Amino acid sequence: MDARTRERLPVLPILVRSVDQRRKDAAAVLEAFRQVSPGEAFTAAGQQLVRAVVPHGTAGRIWAEDPQTGKRRDLGLEDERAFWTWAAVEVLRATGIRIEELLELSHHSLVQYRLPTAGELVPLLQIVPSKTDTERLLLVSPELADVLSAVICRARDTTGAVPLVRSWDRRECAWQAPAPLLFQRRISGEDRAFTDETVRTMLDQALIATGLTDATGDPLRYTPHDFRRLFITDAILNGLPPHIAQVIAGHQDINVTLGYKAVYPEEAIQAYMAFLARRRSLRPSEEYRVPTDEEWQEFLGHFERRKVSIGACGRAFGTPCIHEHACVRCPMLWPDPAQRDRLVEIRDNLLARIAEAEREGWLGEVEGLQVSLAGAEEKLAQLDAQQERQRSTVFLGIPALDQIAARTSDVNEPGAEAPREPYPSCKASLTALKG
Ligand code: SF4
Repeated sequence: MDARTRERLPVLPILVRSVDQRRKDAAAVLEAFRQVSPGEAFTAAGQQLVRAVVPHGTAGRIWAEDPQTGKRRDLGLEDERAFWTWAAVEVLRATGIRIEELLELSHHSLVQYRLPTAGELVPLLQIVPSKTDTERLLLVSPELADVLSAVICRARDTTGAVPLVRSWDRRECAWQAPAPLLFQRRISGEDRAFTDETVRTMLDQALIATGLTDATGDPLRYTPHDFRRLFITDAILNGLPPHIAQVIAGHQDINVTLGYKAVYPEEAIQAYMAFLARRRSLRPSEEYRVPTDEEWQEFLGHFERRKVSIGACGRAFGTPCIHEHACVRCPMLWPDPAQRDRLVEIRDNLLARIAEAEREGWLGEVEGLQVSLAGAEEKLAQLDAQQERQRSTVFLGIPALDQIAARTSDVNEPGAEAPREPYPSCKASLTALKG
């Protein structure tokens, strides 16, 4: 879903421009049609058409002929589709509401609120309870107010009122009470509410007209719910706090809102690149250069210089020995098993020196020698543990040779109930041994 949102968000302006242009073109063509008599040619929005002569006019049909294709076009239907596609795209992208909420918008959904402090009137759009069973109020931006105003003007009948229509609730499987729904149209002289299938079809047609394609080359599709994801992603990208986006979207759980937004990788990449740039600007530039030959040799030589008489020094590159080369006592020393005799010799020598110091009363030296002795004994214990680990066997669950032989002879015995397969993994080895 995140990939789907990321694919559609950058091309949303193309869709918006396209549906707006189609609406304007359809309106201009219809207006030009009305200015001419039947049989007369007219030109509008770059199209040359002829007003059709229809002896017996069909109610609701506005026919024009296209001289280039020779086909008749219903300009009324084209204008209606273009207008409602534009209206659906604009309302969905500006509010992020669900398709069922869009189709339930009515003339009563527009309410006003006067700010108690400034006294300013704020237009609000009331979204009736749908999925989460709670209503919510959305702030109407000036752009959305323009769209809603155009929709209301379009939906009004000759008396100036928005007709009451009934809608079929597909999820509840019930007809709703008549309401002045905003998304309604006149079909065969009857006012009818839009269905979600109609909106989806209009969106598909609008997308085909844009020529946008997805990664596989197929026409790009936007479902009504894609606009909801795009709305949340765009809002959070532009700095809207997620908990406010949650309220606007009508989610009960903020994790649902965060699941809708598809901006995490972008945020992480941007933040990490900013971190790298900041760190580079703070660190001295001479650190970012190609090492000289001397430095490279120094780096390689470090590993050779780590060798000491009873093993290897494990200190990091570029760090000096801070233990005054008292390797026997040092935890950084990795003792070499080949040097065990030398370590035993050192330990015996230390024992002899401690005995001598105690005998001679050199008590100041005894303490230091005992620390060295403890270090030597620890290194010897380390070597012994290492060798013990190497000597001890670990049972891997592989059967012994006599078990395999017994199992194989069972197979060959006359009267055996059912032939049994020897351990398959050892079969090849056994055959080789017998051979
Ligand atoms: S004393 Fe420790 S750090 Fe220094 S050379 Fe010996 S092992 Fe390495």
